Amino acid sequence: MANHLGRYRVPPPHSRLAGVAAELNGSQSPWAVCGTPGVGQAARLSSVTVVPRLLLIEDDAAIRSSLTRSLSERGHAVASAPTAMAGLQAVVDTAPDLVVLDLGLPDLDGGKLIQMVRAVSKVPIIVATARDDQAEMVRILDWGADDYVVKPFASDHLEARIRAVLRRMASEDPAQAVMVGGLRIDQRTREATLDGAKLELTRKEFDLLFFLAEHEGEVVSKRVLLAEIWQQAYGGADKTVDVHLSWLRRKLGESAAAPRYLLSVRGVGVKLVGPTDPES
Ligand code: CA
Repeated sequence: MANHLGRYRVPPPHSRLAGVAAELNGSQSPWAVCGTPGVGQAARLSSVTVVPRLLLIEDDAAIRSSLTRSLSERGHAVASAPTAMAGLQAVVDTAPDLVVLDLGLPDLDGGKLIQMVRAVSKVPIIVATARDDQAEMVRILDWGADDYVVKPFASDHLEARIRAVLRRMASEDPAQAVMVGGLRIDQRTREATLDGAKLELTRKEFDLLFFLAEHEGEVVSKRVLLAEIWQQAYGGADKTVDVHLSWLRRKLGESAAAPRYLLSVRGVGVKLVGPTDPES
């Protein structure tokens, strides 16, 4: 799959996400991240910023790379696919926040693709079409697209449409996904992924990870975790939290001795950080 997806882009050194992007590169995540977050449905959830993840389905390599660049510079994480089937697969595999879809694809009629995406996902779709007539627009919206832009379009124009659609979605359905580094934790679907790969978590492990992600960068005591996740009072000798943290660490591919996301603060508690957070 990764071979079909867009190239990773190196963000500018001033970017707050520079460390995150480097991490994504190391793990071959499809999402190109660049610039600073804070647009679109970048809802503030406690101290965590949600970066909108866009999937661009476009067969023209030049348009693909120029849109990937301009959209990632505007703070989106961008992945791309050059064919309808690769795009459909990417929708299933990576659950993007929004799809930008070129209607003229080599392997499948664009209308058919919209309907196939709709069969598996409610992800908002913005269609790019070369035809500028009323009947075409009506058809595109009937197929299940949310909006459209007519080619050729300026990337500013597309960006404005993306922001509008994401705002609309956010007001209808508040974002429940929290992202920290390569971690994405979606409370609505109760799914967590690390660098795009699904984590198989128990109910308590998921609750623990989500709670810590909501409090990214804050040291959370075992007393608080036991009360919040297990609804239990802390007796001092209880190992429940330690045991679950250790299971969670294993699933995140790290250990207490070599932590990446979960840092223990001796005598105080634990905090979840982005893997190369300069403050950590
Ligand atoms: Ca095309």
